[in-house]
Amino acid sequence: MISIKNVSKWYGNFQVLTDCTTEVKKGEVVVVCGPSGSGKSTLIKTVNALEPFQKGDIVVDGISIADPKTNLPKLRSRVGMVFQHFELFPHLTITDNLAIAQQKVLGRSRDEARAKGAKLLERVGLSAHAAKFPGQLSGGQQQRVAIARALAMDPIVMLFDEPTSALDPEMVNEVLDVMVQLAHEGMTMMCVTHEMGFARKVANRVIFMDKGKIEEDCSKEDFFGSPRGERAQLFLSKIL
Ligand code: ADP
Ligand code: MG
Repeated sequence: MISIKNVSKWYGNFQVLTDCTTEVKKGEVVVVCGPSGSGKSTLIKTVNALEPFQKGDIVVDGISIADPKTNLPKLRSRVGMVFQHFELFPHLTITDNLAIAQQKVLGRSRDEARAKGAKLLERVGLSAHAAKFPGQLSGGQQQRVAIARALAMDPIVMLFDEPTSALDPEMVNEVLDVMVQLAHEGMTMMCVTHEMGFARKVANRVIFMDKGKIEEDCSKEDFFGSPRGERAQLFLSKIL
């Protein structure tokens, strides 16, 4: 579903990604971890073409991002992304937050978009809050709305960039529970997270990044079960 092939990226003279290669198969959940500044966010943002790269290619569901003929906005609309900060529209109600991109990008009618939004809001357990504004919800609730909003676009893959790291500890699980449920439903997911409980529960593979390189890319069983490279071990010893 996602094929990242020899991707390198520079910010000026600074090489932020070096020859990154990996794949995410349909229905797979891949967890990306690694120290701060190792390039995790940059890598995940290249997958929905939010960040350009200078070398290599990324193919999402058969569509090449490096191909100049590719319609990137169209591709982006099919790749759901959830960020650390929820980035809901503060001046719109939850209902409208869920409907707006469906209407503007997918051309759905207002009624259709609202019906779809309501269904997804129910799925993340927030139907009672439809008429509220984002600022009236807790961080965990806002993040669940952000996930529902991404799902409303019928994405073929979902990307998560540290979706729980800005949350108070008591709200982390309500967001992880939604992600675990998604994983069990067979959604293809690439998740930057340091929640190793989540990784143990649902990841098929774990990628460890350091200094812009993919240093480890292995099954969950191998990642947690057998000795990893020195830097991955050091990292794990700090977060576990
Ligand atoms: P991570 O998500 O693993 O913490 P990032 O992908 O955010 O890492 O950043 C990787 C490196 O790229 C960091 O050293 C960061 O300072 C640098 N970086 C990120 N964005 C920019 C930018 N827009 N311009 C220059 N350097 C950047
Ligand atoms: Mg990051």
